[in-house]
Amino acid sequence: MKELKGKTAIITGGSRGIGRACCSAFASAGANVVFTYNKSKKEAEELSKEIEAQGVRCLALQSDVKDYEQCKKVVATAYEKFSDVDILVNNAGIVRDKALMMMLPEDWKEVIDTNLGGTFNMTRAIITNFLKVKKGCIINMSSVSGLVGIPRQTNYSAAKAGIIGFSKALAKEVAAYNVRVNAVCPGYIETDMVKSLREDVKQEIVKYIPAKKIGKPEEVAQLCVFLASDKAPYMTGNAIRIDGGLAT
Ligand code: NDP
Repeated sequence: MKELKGKTAIITGGSRGIGRACCSAFASAGANVVFTYNKSKKEAEELSKEIEAQGVRCLALQSDVKDYEQCKKVVATAYEKFSDVDILVNNAGIVRDKALMMMLPEDWKEVIDTNLGGTFNMTRAIITNFLKVKKGCIINMSSVSGLVGIPRQTNYSAAKAGIIGFSKALAKEVAAYNVRVNAVCPGYIETDMVKSLREDVKQEIVKYIPAKKIGKPEEVAQLCVFLASDKAPYMTGNAIRIDGGLAT
């Protein structure tokens, strides 16, 4: 049973990591996929072919989530090509980890504008369409960093906590229109973002994870498929941890 058959999803930051796993999982579940990337053109082209090989339609668009006009264009193009969109996954995100005393205003701005600003830009660009047809599902990629705060991540923790507040407020605003909004809060997941950590740092982190391992992008993607499916019609306004027990 393909739980997203006939649906269309827009996924930001689909070229790598969790976003890429979401694109593959959504396609496996039968959804057409529109995904954005910023710099990774080659990876995006490869992924497009992989997705189409699964028998669904795919559109890869270069777009910077920091730019509202570009986000509006992504949404307009998606509706033009697919006539309907059911799901938005705001996944694109970056880190610029530094102790606050070393953090430059541009480190702050880049992280807030990409993670939190990008979530606003894409959601603002699509929300009227969802409200008009009284259906839609929005999944915002937050982090345990936004729940508990992580040192050297004041910019990232602030952005990810902001995404949780944004998701909860919007969920209440649009629930009566059959539009659901949830935040997903992964712990440490094996993507480029975590691979770049020093091996000894990773081993130290694993000691503090009750499950004693780092998660996989596919595991986060499966949670997103579930949230986007008709199996979760009463779920909205949540911040769902997927972290091996880390932030329990
Ligand atoms: P990666 O660094 O592996 O991938 C990031 C993705 O975001 C890439 O596809 C990248 O595109 C895209 N992206 C970055 N900046 C922009 C931008 N300005 N506009 C459009 N796309 C952009 O990250 P992860 O897969 O690890 O992270 C995905 C999400 O999950 C993020 O929001 C992250 O904060 C969150 N998260 C990750 C965790 C982890 O442990 N990995 C833990 C908790 C949350 P391109 O390559 O084309 O530049």
